[in-house]
Amino acid sequence: MRFNGNKVVLVTGGAGFLGSHLCGKLLELGHEVLCLDNFYSSSKSNIEELLDNPRFELIRHDVTQPIHLEVNEIYNLACPASPVYYQKDPVQTTKTSVLGAINMLDLAVRTGSKILQASTSEIYGDPEVSPQSETYWGRVNPIGIRSCYDEGKRASETLFFDYKRQHQLEIKVARIFNTYGPRMHPNDGRVVSNFIVQALRGEDLTVYGDGSQTRSFCFVDDLVDGLIQFMESNESICGPINLGNPQEITMLELTREVLQLSGSSSKVKFLPLPEDDPKQRKPDISEANLSLNWAPSVSLAQGLEKTIQYFRTALNF
Ligand code: NAD
Ligand code: UDP
Repeated sequence: MRFNGNKVVLVTGGAGFLGSHLCGKLLELGHEVLCLDNFYSSSKSNIEELLDNPRFELIRHDVTQPIHLEVNEIYNLACPASPVYYQKDPVQTTKTSVLGAINMLDLAVRTGSKILQASTSEIYGDPEVSPQSETYWGRVNPIGIRSCYDEGKRASETLFFDYKRQHQLEIKVARIFNTYGPRMHPNDGRVVSNFIVQALRGEDLTVYGDGSQTRSFCFVDDLVDGLIQFMESNESICGPINLGNPQEITMLELTREVLQLSGSSSKVKFLPLPEDDPKQRKPDISEANLSLNWAPSVSLAQGLEKTIQYFRTALNF
């Protein structure tokens, strides 16, 4: 049933880090939000504050199984995003990306909904070009330990564009670069949460390899705005479009930022570099600029401060 004529928006993976922020923002905009999640890499605490909202509904469901719902828009975010989580059950990760995409695309066809896919910079693999623009086809190992995630996401992009061609579906494919902020899971193994939690606990910061590899980190509020602007863009704009912050930084530089902003006297410890770890990552966001009039506005220092504050409170430091 529709609420006051507003849109009914389905967010798969809605209890996750990005999904919970997206659900909150969509509720603020007046929509009715169906949050679908199987809690594989999240918990109800992320959406606790939304549960009392009469326009919010939680559905415990695995996207690898079909589901019948009446919706106007679908944001397909369901998929573990941290290497630790997506490598824990790699077969399930591929199933989530591929079967999840098929089930959500079928739902979009049946309901005539617009559908947005949360794709990733991982589809570029270990890139030979920098910055990465959408025209770059990528360099992905098809059989390595990251492949369940990379190839699963690549296959879902294929499915999205084939459903568009075959069923004239309105699709939006967003390639999301590393995003961070409050509600990241403290133990999910991603670098920003690892470094902040280690700094606050006075433990050594674990740098993998020599720390010269780069990433470009986008604050979650900027990213969520980009996703919503993309969903609301003209039908002709289907992507893929990179969404991320082009401010590139080495992991060693990141340790210094985190230590300085948290006031921690932790040391740095070097551990082996995981297999297939990309050497560099920096989005070319000119397409998002041009088509969506979008660019991030939160600097790394501002975003890290907010995230450090969140972990201080969440972990009682
Ligand atoms: P997350 O792990 O916090 O959230 C993913 C959510 O999907 C979790 O709540 C999890 O329980 C749910 N989920 C996993 N498998 C499911 C299944 N089979 N059925 C239903 N729910 C399932 O990760 P996140 O950072 O919020 O990422 C959200 C999406 O954005 C993912 O698709 C990810 O690939 C993509 N993305 C994120 C980043 C990033 O830096 N955060 C970068 C690129 C792409
Ligand atoms: N990394 C690190 N220490 C950690 C966790 C990660 O040095 O405790 C490195 C990791 O090897 C990678 C980068 O930080 O080069 C980003 O890792 P993350 O898992 O956050 O994201 P992804 O590799 O998927 O971009």
